[in-house]
Amino acid sequence: MGLSKTIWTNPSEYIRTVQPENPVLFFSPAVLQAAARRFIDGFPGMVTYAVKTNPSDVVIENLSAAGVRGFDVASPGEMRLVKRIAPDAAMHYNNPVRARAEIAVAVELGVKSYSVDSATELEKLIEMVPAQDCEISVRFKLPVAGAAYNFGAKFGATVDLAAQLLKRAAEAGFIPSLTFHPGTQCTDPHAWESYIRAAADIARMADVTVARLNVGGGFPNHRLQAVVPQIDETFALIDRVATEAFGDARPMLVCEPGRGLCGDAFTHIAKVKAVRDGAHVFLNDGVYGALAELPLVGIIDRIEVVDGMGAKRRGELQSRIVFGPTCDSVDRIPGELMLADDIAEGDYLVIHGMGAYSVATNTRFNGFGDLTIATVLSLKV
Ligand SMILES: *Cc1c(COP(=O)(O)O)cnc(C)c1O
Repeated sequence: MGLSKTIWTNPSEYIRTVQPENPVLFFSPAVLQAAARRFIDGFPGMVTYAVKTNPSDVVIENLSAAGVRGFDVASPGEMRLVKRIAPDAAMHYNNPVRARAEIAVAVELGVKSYSVDSATELEKLIEMVPAQDCEISVRFKLPVAGAAYNFGAKFGATVDLAAQLLKRAAEAGFIPSLTFHPGTQCTDPHAWESYIRAAADIARMADVTVARLNVGGGFPNHRLQAVVPQIDETFALIDRVATEAFGDARPMLVCEPGRGLCGDAFTHIAKVKAVRDGAHVFLNDGVYGALAELPLVGIIDRIEVVDGMGAKRRGELQSRIVFGPTCDSVDRIPGELMLADDIAEGDYLVIHGMGAYSVATNTRFNGFGDLTIATVLSLKV
């Protein structure tokens, strides 16, 4: 992955000048910093960033510059990345299953917050991590609602088990907290409501005063033209429900967005390799590359077609099957895309809102996916 030092005006200027043969992700530091400020100003608690969503140095650097002081990390690799770029930031190690060697690295690097969802993994932490000033956050789950992708399938204790774990963590001298992840791309603010109320029930069942409640990630980015993310409404709902559910025992709140912070700060382009016999469109990137998430989370319709001079195609919209470059048949953008009917070989498909789970999951399968990140002043083509 190359990183251009030049700052370009916009994707069109880059296309005109460079005529890239490989896919490019355009990064707008201004959009990322504005998203960070929106969370910091609007969320009623601490804002941390889930590093896995987009672990590019430029993302960590710009979030840090905008005032993000905590990072959700899942591995020693992510911890070292944060230590290198934002050495004073808090690290929340919220991957509930860890090897002993990984726990040892976290202790060494000064991690003071861990999540857990099982008795075996809690005992490992109690054995290996000094309890002094250290938080253990019990992660619980509810039957899913409202998200594009179910996070509860892998992690999260039931409400009953969570109450037992919370009690045990408090008795072992740790700062007792709770956490959940409502699922990713939650366009319905109410996805958070039942979780926050359940957290208050768990605290009562355990008879423990919870220090912090981490309400997860899950904040959506702008993927469908018609569905504008209701971020401020979600903050207001979280604030109101936390007070209703906990009353005087309201814990400090934490959030750990990934997609909601970095999703809209990147725009992706892929070159049209061929329009095969006038029908199917073949791109130089696909589901084994930066477009890996589209079959999992759903299509983005904020798409444009530009020609090799960076000018927008304005033909009538026509439905097309679009394939990626590898020899695998599943390498296809799900469904059909509505694209300008004058699309031609050598054009570029522009997809907005591509900052989350794109650089991180690019596989290089079949020798494709040589992705460049280029910094731009504006993401408008
Ligand atoms: C992936 C993840 C996040 C970020 O999720 P988004 O839906 O991208 O906001 C936050 N917390 C944990 C524990 C995660 O695993």
